[in-house]
This record gives sequence, structure tokens and C-alpha cells, in this order.
Amino acid sequence: MSQLADADDGVPLGEGAAGRMDQGMTIYGAIEAGGTKFVCALGTAETGSLRTATIPTRDPESTFAEVAAFFDGAAELGRVAGIGIASFGPVGVDAAAADYGKILATPKPGWEGTDLLARVRDFLDVPLAIDTDVNAAALAEVAAAGPEISQLAYVTVGTGIGVGLVTDGRAVHGIGHPEAGHVLVRRHPAHEGFAGTCPFHGDCLEGLAAGPAIAAAWGAPASELPAAHPFWDVEADYLAQLCMTLFLTMAPQRIVLGGGVMQQRRLLPIIRVRTAQMLGGYVQGARDLAAMERRILPPACREPSGLVGAYLLAKRAAQAEG
Ligand code: ADP
Ligand code: ZN
Repeated sequence: MSQLADADDGVPLGEGAAGRMDQGMTIYGAIEAGGTKFVCALGTAETGSLRTATIPTRDPESTFAEVAAFFDGAAELGRVAGIGIASFGPVGVDAAAADYGKILATPKPGWEGTDLLARVRDFLDVPLAIDTDVNAAALAEVAAAGPEISQLAYVTVGTGIGVGLVTDGRAVHGIGHPEAGHVLVRRHPAHEGFAGTCPFHGDCLEGLAAGPAIAAAWGAPASELPAAHPFWDVEADYLAQLCMTLFLTMAPQRIVLGGGVMQQRRLLPIIRVRTAQMLGGYVQGARDLAAMERRILPPACREPSGLVGAYLLAKRAAQAEG
């Protein structure tokens, strides 16, 4: 159960029956709403997706027309008991607030103020819930980890860097949702002179270490950089600083590292070594490399963790209203 997400490989959560349909089973809808694509699915977290569709993200009207068509076209699979949305941010996540389910200040043209929940309710009137893609992913990873893990951080290193936090089994919300991808990090000497790409902060973690920053700093994406390139140590150093900060602030039992850049499997071992070095034996339970090998892991879900988390949100919404 420590494989990277593989959408074609059956069970998202734990071992058990492969994704298949039983007559009369309760199914949920899951929408992973991303800046470049929307993934829609029907199924459950436990049994996997019965059907999925990937829709390129365009303007809200055209995108949601296709989302609605997916759910309409899948009506024969059964009654949908609820829909969960795992969304790109920033998004309103407080169910009691006026901005719940709305995309907040985003540089993505046409999306600011879009009410994702209302758009879904327009075509299917079922219980709905929404959280960030990374909070949803963290919920899925906590469920996959079993009862001994209740404090977990999920990090995606992709177009941006996002961090979802689950504490005592619940996603962390406060003034909105956490944005720990934008923490400040100590600059690596090999990166001197690179301004960083974050439109808000320049050289925050995302501005130094997300996919677009890698391409801007080194002239090529991580997938094209040779093993001997200084990039690997620089990237691992920044992500180890994030892991250290997470261990120091929320004392997670597990940190899950996902996203496109983490597909480069040589990063994970270097991140574990650097995190252990930086912490210097200070945090109980994260004292040495052996502890890092148990605690800093790739995603355990076999479907994308955010999508599995969307099923869990849907189930929670259905149970809350049912
Ligand atoms: P998003 O963050 O948009 O949801 P991804 O997690 O796939 O999507 O992140 C996309 C970023 O990750 C891009 O900057 C891309 O260069 C980088 N990326 C995607 N796949 C890989 C890979 N296999 N190896 C290294 N970098 C990758
Ligand atoms: Zn930033």
C-alpha cells in the first residue's frame, strides 16, 4: 500500500474488492476541480471509480456543461447519494460562510467568484460538500493509513505547492484553509540570483520549488534534468525544509508527498535524509532516517488522493443530510 496513485489499478482505499458495481449499491460523485483539468467520477472511496472523465478546464460555463453531461450520461449506474468537490484554491471552505463553495481571489481568468456548489446543484440536487484538493487528499490518505494515523499532512508539488492538513481526523480550516506551500524557506546557495516565480511572494517555497519555478530556474522541467544536476539537491533541500516545518508545527504522524514533480522518485530518499539532518534528532518520533522512512511517504491511494477524498466528502455530506 505504498504505491504512487495508479488510476487503473483498482481499489483506492485499502485492499479489497476491485472497482466493480453491485446492484443497488450506494454511489457517490467526485469532482477533482483543477486549474488545468476537472476529473469527474462515480463510485465510492472503498470500491473505486466505476466511471471517470477528464475535462479540460476552460471558462466555468463550458467546463460545467461537460461536468453536467458526464453525470447525466452516467445516470444508469445508479442513484447518486451525494457529490464531493476537491477544488483548486483559494476556495471558501466554511459551510457557515457566504463564500462557501466559491472560488476566491485567483489569477485564473473568469473563475474568481464562481460558485462551484451552485453550478453542481444546477444539474443535480443532492447533498454536496467541498474542500481544497489537498485537504481532500489528506482526508483520503488518513483513511487509507488506518486507525493509528489521525494527524497527517498531504503535500502536492506540481503547478503550485499545496499542503492539506488533517488533525484528529478532520481537515484543518480557520481563516479559510492553510496555504503552507507559500512558507518562506532558507535560500539554497546554488539558487543565488533566482528571483522566484510566486506572483504574491516571489521566493516563497512555491516560487522556488514548484514545477514552473524549476523550469524557470534551470531551463527545463525536472523530468529532463540529468541525475548529476544540482537541481535534485536544491529541490530536496526546499521540500525537506517544508517537512521540518510541518513536523515542528503540527507533529504529523505521516507526511505524504504527491504531485507531478514527486513522480521523480529519486527525490523522496534525498528529502528524507535532508529532513533528518535538519531536524538534528530534535522531534520525538522523527529523530532519524529510519523514522523518516516510516513517516515521509508517497500516496497510498491507488486513485488520485484528491479524487478519493472527494468521495469521502460526498459520503459525509450524504450522511449529514440523511
Ligand atoms: P497540477 O499541479 O496542475 O494539478 P501536476 O501535479 O501534474 O498537476 O503538476 C504539474 C507540474 O509538475 C508541471 O510543472 C510539470 O512540469 C511537473 N511534472 C508533471 N509530471 C512530472 C514528472 N513526471 N516529472 C517531473 N515533473 C513533472
Ligand atoms: Zn507564494
